[in-house]
Amino acid sequence: MKKTDSNEKRGGIYIHIPFCVRKCAYCDFLSAPADEKTQAEYVKALQTEIYQTAKLLSENPYTVDTVFFGGGTPSILAPGHVKALADTLRESFPFAENAEITIECNPGTLDEEKAAVYRQAGINRISFGLQSANNRELKMLGRIHTMEEFVKSYETARAAGFDNINIDLMSALPGQTFESFLHTLDTVLALKPEHISMYSLILEEGTALYEHLDRYPALPDEDTERQMYDTACLRLADNGYHQYEISNFAKEGKACRHNLSYWERKNYLGFGTGAASLLCEQRYTNTDSLALYIDTMAELEEKKEVISKALAAVRAEQHTLSVPEQMEEMFFLGLRKNSGISEADFLGKFGKTVDDIYAQVLEKNQKFGLLVRENGRIFLTKRGREVSNVVMSEFLLD
Ligand code: SF4
Repeated sequence: MKKTDSNEKRGGIYIHIPFCVRKCAYCDFLSAPADEKTQAEYVKALQTEIYQTAKLLSENPYTVDTVFFGGGTPSILAPGHVKALADTLRESFPFAENAEITIECNPGTLDEEKAAVYRQAGINRISFGLQSANNRELKMLGRIHTMEEFVKSYETARAAGFDNINIDLMSALPGQTFESFLHTLDTVLALKPEHISMYSLILEEGTALYEHLDRYPALPDEDTERQMYDTACLRLADNGYHQYEISNFAKEGKACRHNLSYWERKNYLGFGTGAASLLCEQRYTNTDSLALYIDTMAELEEKKEVISKALAAVRAEQHTLSVPEQMEEMFFLGLRKNSGISEADFLGKFGKTVDDIYAQVLEKNQKFGLLVRENGRIFLTKRGREVSNVVMSEFLLD
């Protein structure tokens, strides 16, 4: 196998903040309310994990291209905590000159002071979880904010100088009509964010929505859901948003570099509970347990030495990806992007052509009009994107 190391010493960093004001009805993310003391202890634990990991990697320093503060609700933290985390990152790792640094904000948790501190901390991108512009839908989803509060947060971010803002939207909500979805989309377009993400609601077992679905208005049928997606894609394109991934749309040059790096299988280091990392084809995931994470890091901090064993103690999973697993991932992550995957990259990484491994699958999906091969790239057609999960599953190798 031909080995490439072009991206081995650089990549992204994900920081997980597992706290929220309260749980949304549809949410199965690793997040829960927590008091200020717990938040402070967690931030300290994160600083320890960042610092100790950087020490472990110091022989082969990891240059940071992107940072993503995700959650949960990172903007729930006191602004000084976010600044402290950003400072720890910069003290621990070399940063690329034009690093993209994003923080997820829940509308209603951002104020002028926080926005100003984020700027001082070098954060240059904000991602707002709006979901809907309809207050009735927001209330039903258990969101903590109204549309009016969102607009206030958005204007606060703009006034602080943020010129790269994403807004997350959701479709296929209980009781949502085609018209109410379009109203949300048009309201958001009028604000002219640089980036819009649009996901269909997924009913996750264990969530309030899943357990009490009978108490909610009916979900839109499949045809309405498809009509929402298709119309949104057209309307976004008309407004200058380039679709670069199944659910993501951006103005020129404003695609989210951090998320792109996941789909391109570049390195990323995840810090905090439940955070996953991919480093030189090693994938590991941290424990979900807040107590175990905080206690282990406190111990590590006390000893003031690098203890790789202690870091291993917070890993829930650790696995070196086999070559077939890497090939599968290259396809089912790469095909999420509208630009798909590069045949030359596949050959360069594995020393085999895509036809050596996937000739039959490629031929079949091309024949059904789900995949295109053009100019050395393989990507989904519009029809292919509609059934992307089915197409991607065909690239699994036994
Ligand atoms: S704000 Fe986001 S992470 Fe927090 S409960 Fe709601 S959906 Fe989940």
